[in-house]
Amino acid sequence: MKTKPLPTTITGSLPKPAWLAEPEKLWSPWKLADAILREGKRDAVRLVLRDQEQAGIDIVSDGEQTRQHFVTTFIEHLDGVDFQRRETIRIRDRYDADVPVVTGPVSRPKPVYVEDAHFLRAETNKRIKFTLPGPMTMVDTLYDDHYQSREQLAWVFAEILNDEARELEAAGVDIIQFDEPAFNVFFEEVRSWGIKTLERAAEGLACKTAVHICYGYGIKANMDWKKTLGAEWRQYEETFPLLRESAIDQVSLECHNSRVPIELIGLLEGKDVLVGAIDVATDKIETPEEVAATLRKALNYVTPEHLYPCTNCGMVPLARTVAQGKLKALVKGAELVRSELNNT
Ligand SMILES: [Zn+2]
Repeated sequence: MKTKPLPTTITGSLPKPAWLAEPEKLWSPWKLADAILREGKRDAVRLVLRDQEQAGIDIVSDGEQTRQHFVTTFIEHLDGVDFQRRETIRIRDRYDADVPVVTGPVSRPKPVYVEDAHFLRAETNKRIKFTLPGPMTMVDTLYDDHYQSREQLAWVFAEILNDEARELEAAGVDIIQFDEPAFNVFFEEVRSWGIKTLERAAEGLACKTAVHICYGYGIKANMDWKKTLGAEWRQYEETFPLLRESAIDQVSLECHNSRVPIELIGLLEGKDVLVGAIDVATDKIETPEEVAATLRKALNYVTPEHLYPCTNCGMVPLARTVAQGKLKALVKGAELVRSELNNT
């Protein structure tokens, strides 16, 4: 089957229905419990699938409807981390948070999202993508009282993630994406062990593998941080050359409304590039023409077969209607550019 150029996809998360969790909020508590919660999560997955399919998104996800948070929920399923004990650390060098404590050897007693992946696979004929947190970003959300080495803990997480990823692949997932926003902050660690642990997490996978690196959700701590980054955001310049040499197939990055110089995409030659053409930090819905303008700029540095129109980051903090509008804008913008490709 020949696939069309510029297949659209999303970074991962979408807003949850108000009956499942309080909207427009990170770490929003569930409104249901036990068996009803399990059923509610699946119904929510069906709804976000329909939104994506109706908008015309080509590679769909479960919108992370079964998780409270993209990192924390995965870690909650692991042994060796005490969520009752809390210590204050600085996350991504940006803001303080009370975080759980690693108190012993970390392990995955049972699969975390594999059942969710089977469900998603059964509910759609489209290509499906599943997201997992990356090892470095996981390390950066915990106080480590056991290994006392960020690198050592990252290697343990990488092995656990690889076990999970292999089972997701066996469940029929087409693309497994690791979310590594921490790659935009800790450049020396990225160089010394970040890429290696990411590759360990993706080792042996036959499906496509991706890494998402962004400037975060549109929350205040991130907006304040962005203001300190100057006229040009060149953080990707540190990591892209390393990723280009890595075994990871796809790189998902923030683009639209950001100060990322678009030519940095050129550092990823040979990789699939998931170009963020939707801003998740504003309620304003992009016009298809605005989306197309970002994609056209990207096409100066990436070939059409490697360009995947995408969102800048997860859309979980947005209102549902806003996210639905943005999905449609993304698809329509991609269609505009696709028709131009066909005409040349
Ligand atoms: Zn992101």
